[in-house]
Amino acid sequence: MKKNCFKAIIIEDARHDLEAKVNGIFDKLAPKSFNGMRVLVKPNMLGPAAPELGHSTHPEVVRAIVRACLSRGAKVTVGDNPGGINRSSTGVAQVTGILEASEGCFAPIGDKVVEMRGSKSGHTLMISRVVLDADYVINAPIFKTHAGMYLSGAMKNLYGYVAGACKAQLHLKAPSREEFAEVLCDINEVRHPDLNIMDALTVLEGNGPSHGGVKREVGKVFASNNTLVADTVMAAMVGVEPMRFPVTKRGQERGFGTTDLSQVEVEGNIVVIPDFKLPNTFIAEATEEMLTRAAQANKMRDDRLAELLPGRLSVKPLLAIDKCLQCGDCEVNCPAQALTLDPYPVINDKCIQCFCCVELCLEGALEVPDVAAFRAY
Ligand code: SF4
Ligand code: SF4
Repeated sequence: MKKNCFKAIIIEDARHDLEAKVNGIFDKLAPKSFNGMRVLVKPNMLGPAAPELGHSTHPEVVRAIVRACLSRGAKVTVGDNPGGINRSSTGVAQVTGILEASEGCFAPIGDKVVEMRGSKSGHTLMISRVVLDADYVINAPIFKTHAGMYLSGAMKNLYGYVAGACKAQLHLKAPSREEFAEVLCDINEVRHPDLNIMDALTVLEGNGPSHGGVKREVGKVFASNNTLVADTVMAAMVGVEPMRFPVTKRGQERGFGTTDLSQVEVEGNIVVIPDFKLPNTFIAEATEEMLTRAAQANKMRDDRLAELLPGRLSVKPLLAIDKCLQCGDCEVNCPAQALTLDPYPVINDKCIQCFCCVELCLEGALEVPDVAAFRAY
């Protein structure tokens, strides 16, 4: 994309007259008519949680997008592959309100899958057929934190292109943040969305992307014709340099767009959310970097430095035993088989800190430890 072709639109007070405002985004960033084109709308459907919890894209954002597409003559499919091996996407769509909001356009997209090889990371990707068949893709993420990757926005949302058990396997094959960022870039490259519309009505801060997150009313929706730019706007809104986030950084390095907002035609104001709280994992990483720099400057011995470091590499989720129903979901969904029920979840040293168990536990019984606890492991 040429310089200055990147666009972003920030919509304030988006709860008020949402449908008209989303329609306005289409007027500026989408074709005037879809004329029978197959349009895929890809919301974030993390799991079976009510819309007010902010885990998934708000159904009214999905409804506004669907209506804008239908009024322009599109053949619309709304779909996502939610996390969790045994979770039906239709069931998740029902609980999140997305099934009803899709106005007859919802489809379980995990049924037909194409095996794709030759990715940069070397991993085989099982991609929903509908992604490859679409003439136009609308990425509709929700703005939230993510204990594993720090933020979950536009690029991360496309992990839902991947279907079935392949999602869990990729966590195991790409256990570090940098490796997983590479996989996410591979998935983005399968099909870059044509339009990104980010739900920032109620965002999650803290240890998202599910029960560990804390809701924050922001009341905005923003859009971009470029996925990396959408995530750059999100980074700016949390007040952090975009290259601090592994996926954004790798996206920039792979030439997906720009993280330089001076290269973007922005309509509206990008305002920093005051005191936005990033996940404990981000804080630990930042602390480690700061201590390492200070230690190097002071020529500190390695053993002394090791005492000061927060011990990020051995962080494991913590169990709040009073919330645990011993349902076994976490055991089934742990990609590293590091977690067993005995009779409550016990996590061994095979843990790769993907935090899938934290994300998928419907009771919020697994938590990201706070930074002070990191050193205890
Ligand atoms: S931690 Fe959550 S997912 Fe795991 S057994 Fe307990 S309630 Fe189920
Ligand atoms: S125990 Fe949890 S954080 Fe550790 S590898 Fe398994 S799912 Fe990931």
